[in-house]
Amino acid sequence: MLFDTHVHINDEAFKEDLEATIARARAAGVEKMIVVGFDRPTIQKAMALIDQYPFLYAAIGWHPVDAIDMKDEDLDWIESLAHHPKVVAIGEIGLDYHWDKSPKEVQQEVFRRQIRLAKKLDLPIIIHNREATEDCVQILKEENAQEAGGIMHCFSGSPETAKECIKMNFYISLGGPVTFKNAKKPKEVAAEVPLEKLLVETDCPYLAPHPYRGKRNEPAYVKLVAEQIAEIKGIPFEKVAEQTMLNAEKLFRIKDHA
Ligand SMILES: [Zn+2]
Repeated sequence: MLFDTHVHINDEAFKEDLEATIARARAAGVEKMIVVGFDRPTIQKAMALIDQYPFLYAAIGWHPVDAIDMKDEDLDWIESLAHHPKVVAIGEIGLDYHWDKSPKEVQQEVFRRQIRLAKKLDLPIIIHNREATEDCVQILKEENAQEAGGIMHCFSGSPETAKECIKMNFYISLGGPVTFKNAKKPKEVAAEVPLEKLLVETDCPYLAPHPYRGKRNEPAYVKLVAEQIAEIKGIPFEKVAEQTMLNAEKLFRIKDHA
C-alpha cells in the first residue's frame, strides 16, 4: 500500500499507455496518487482524471518556470477549480532559478500569491524548489506558510534545511534520486528525517529511480523509492509504506473516497 504523492501521468509522455501505466501502478501496490497540474493543459487533464479514477487526487498550481505567463484569470481559474473535493493541494508552486524564462521577482510574486490563495482555501502547498533554497525558505517564512503546511517535493537539500522546513509544518518528500549511488544528500535526509515526516513520490515521467535512471519514470517505481528508504533506515519496507501512506492521508485530509 503506497501513496505516490507526485505524479504527472497527465503529461504527454503517458498519452499512449495511460491505462496500462495506472494498472502497473495498482499491481505494484500504489493505492493512491496525487496528479499534479502546473499549467492550463495539465490542470485540465488532472481534473478529468480525478473524476475518472476514485484513487486519484489532484494538486493544481502555476509552475515557477512559467510564472511570467500567469494572468489574473489563471489564478481565478485555479481558485474556482480548487473547490472540487478531490483537489487536495495547491502546487506545484515555488522557485526555479535553474531556468531563466521567468525573472526571479516575477517567480517570487507568483509564488507569494499562490501561498496566499492556499491559505485562503485552507489547502496545503506542494513546493518546487530548484537552486533557490534560501529565497524559498525566506518567502515561506514571510508569508507564514506554516498555516498551510505542505510538502517539499523531490527534496534535494541538506538534513539541516529539511529540519527547518519540518519546523514550518512541511513534510519532506523523496523521489528517484534517493536511489542514485552518488546521491549523498537525499540518502542523509532519508537517514535523519523521522519517518513521520517523510513522503514518497516519483515525479514521473521525470527522475526515474535506479535501475531505470534516464528512462521514463512511472508511478509503479515509487516502490523502489520506499525500498531504498527502508534499507537506509534499517526497517521493514512495509513500515515505510504504511507510515508514508498515513502521513499523506493526514496532510491531504483523505479519509476514504475510494
Ligand atoms: Zn512535478
